[in-house]
Amino acid sequence: MAAPDVQQPLSAIGCDACQSAVQSDGQQEVSFLLLDQLTIPVISCDEHLEQFSSFCGLTTEDTADLLHHRPAGGLSCPSCRLAPYNSPHPLVQVQDGAILPMACPKHQSEIVQRFHTGIQTQYQLTASLDTTPSL
Ligand SMILES: [Zn+2]
Ligand SMILES: [Zn+2]
Repeated sequence: MAAPDVQQPLSAIGCDACQSAVQSDGQQEVSFLLLDQLTIPVISCDEHLEQFSSFCGLTTEDTADLLHHRPAGGLSCPSCRLAPYNSPHPLVQVQDGAILPMACPKHQSEIVQRFHTGIQTQYQLTASLDTTPSL
């Protein structure tokens, strides 16, 4: 698998649904990824949101939850609340799609970190399965 990278150009997104979601610039409904103490507003298509949250979920004992509406109580981080108005946000490549985290820089890098850790974990799981000698 190619190394995931931030700051992908839009043309690098292979998923049409992702492209139109991230290009709609606020028109698209924002989903919320709940992971441990984090609540991260994200924009993407359903499929890649699921993938993103499942990778992030590998980094927690808990589960990563996706909400398709604003969580009760809203966002606890004041900077995240303002984040949608403070551009730009980096695109995070998820397989052939991409997600746009609409969080403050701190939480943005935190969730991207989690995502990358999740990919590593997944990779190691797969690799160790491959090398397990069959009896
Ligand atoms: Zn997509
Ligand atoms: Zn924040």
